[in-house]
Amino acid sequence: MKSICKIKPKNPIVGTNKEYSYDLLERDIGYLKMKYPFITVGKIGASVCGRDLHYIKFGDGPNKVLYNGTHHGLEWITSLLLMKFTENICKAYKNGKQIRGYDIRELFKKSTIYIVPMVNPDGVDLVINGLKKSNPYYNELLKWNNESTDFSKVWQANVRGVDLNHNYDASFDLSKKAEKEHCIVGPGPTRYSGECPESEPETKALADFTRKEDFKLVMAYHSQGKEIYWQYGNSTPPIARSIGKIFSEVSGYKLGEVIGIASYAGYKDWFIDKFKRPGYTIEVGWGKNPLPLKQFNQIYKSNEEMLILAAML
Ligand SMILES: [Zn+2]
Repeated sequence: MKSICKIKPKNPIVGTNKEYSYDLLERDIGYLKMKYPFITVGKIGASVCGRDLHYIKFGDGPNKVLYNGTHHGLEWITSLLLMKFTENICKAYKNGKQIRGYDIRELFKKSTIYIVPMVNPDGVDLVINGLKKSNPYYNELLKWNNESTDFSKVWQANVRGVDLNHNYDASFDLSKKAEKEHCIVGPGPTRYSGECPESEPETKALADFTRKEDFKLVMAYHSQGKEIYWQYGNSTPPIARSIGKIFSEVSGYKLGEVIGIASYAGYKDWFIDKFKRPGYTIEVGWGKNPLPLKQFNQIYKSNEEMLILAAML
């Protein structure tokens, strides 16, 4: 992270009128730590291109939860959502305020919230800043993207063309089978699962962090669809549906219902399968990715209470 110790943080820190790049994320994490020293910031690992995979932690309670965003390059609005939430929670904690009737100091006593705001910074960089000559995968990326240097509307994968939300150890063989049915035979913008589970440093880092920290519940943020996914076959714990129903009520998002295994090798699939605890994929907003910033306020309103409740239930 760049040194920003001489600069005074702006107010508010997290701006919501710009595409949320990795540089903005790093700057905001630095400012948040400066203004709210009670938060812990750190990294869980690094991306293929060596970008730090940051986490933020706040609260001191035994109830540990993890929220992550932007497994997919086009979905950087979910990083912005988690960063804005972090700022608002920290501000309320500092000032002894409530948010939506919830006492945030009580929340900090009861829970510890871990946030990994951007799982795929290299993918976000391709989407927002385009392909640069200095990229170590320059030639391959051109080939994987049909010789186009425009990644802004299509690129979900990491810089090695692996879809990170198909790279976890949960029905990985079924994921490989499904990608073949979609004529995906190798690295590309979306849906390629990689050679084996956790083949990518980003997924390995998040899985290692999850194994280490023993979370009671996780939420993986994606866009779009205004939908909440909560199942992974027979591994789904009975309580997952009732929590999902509460999430659906407070967010206005639809609770997804699937029969059997409908998603493969995603983070929430792996979490449910491995730990038999509630894990959710939240699809925010509506339309074509990347979602326009004019949706941000509505997305924030829909998700704020859910983000508080997920740490209290
Ligand atoms: Zn996604």
